[in-house]
Amino acid sequence: MSDRTFDLTVVTPERQVFQGPVAMVIVRTVDGEIGVLPGHAPLVAPLAIGPMTIKTPAGERKAAVNGGFIEVTPRQVTILTEAAEMAEEIDVRRAEEAKKRALARLEKKRADIDYARAQAALQRAIVRLKVAGREG
Ligand code: ATP
Repeated sequence: MSDRTFDLTVVTPERQVFQGPVAMVIVRTVDGEIGVLPGHAPLVAPLAIGPMTIKTPAGERKAAVNGGFIEVTPRQVTILTEAAEMAEEIDVRRAEEAKKRALARLEKKRADIDYARAQAALQRAIVRLKVAGREG
C-alpha cells in the first residue's frame, strides 16, 4: 500500500463485496456525495441508497450500495451495508423487474401500501440499473 492509496473494504451481512487498495472512493451519504482520498479526516457517516465509484490501481469500478455506514480511519475505509453489488455482478433483468413491481405499487393509491418501502425498492432498482450502465 503506497501513500497514494488506502485500503477499502465493502462488506454486507452476507459477504465481502470488495477489498483492496484504492486511490479514491466516492459514495452517497444521507447528506450528499463525498469523495475520500488518502489522508482524509476520520469520519463515520450514514449512507443513502446510491452508486459508489472506486479508483483502483487497475482502473475505475462502480458498485450499487444499499445504505449502511462509511467509516474512515487514517489508513482504512470500511463500508458496512445491507447489500452491495459490483457493476458486473448486477442482474439487469432482476433490477428491471424490481423497478416494475415498485412502480406498480406506487401507482396504486391505496392505504395498505407502504410507500416508503416501495420508494426504497424503486431507488435500489434505479441505482442498480444506472451502475450496470442501463437507463434506470
Ligand atoms: P429484489 O426485489 O429483486 O429482491 P431488492 O432490492 O429487494 O431486489 P435487496 O434486498 O436489496 O434486493 O438485496 C437482496 C440480495 O439480493 C442482496 O444480496 C443483493 O446484493 C442481491 N440483489 C438484489 N438485486 C440484485 C440484482 N439486480 N443483481 C444482483 N444482485 C442483486
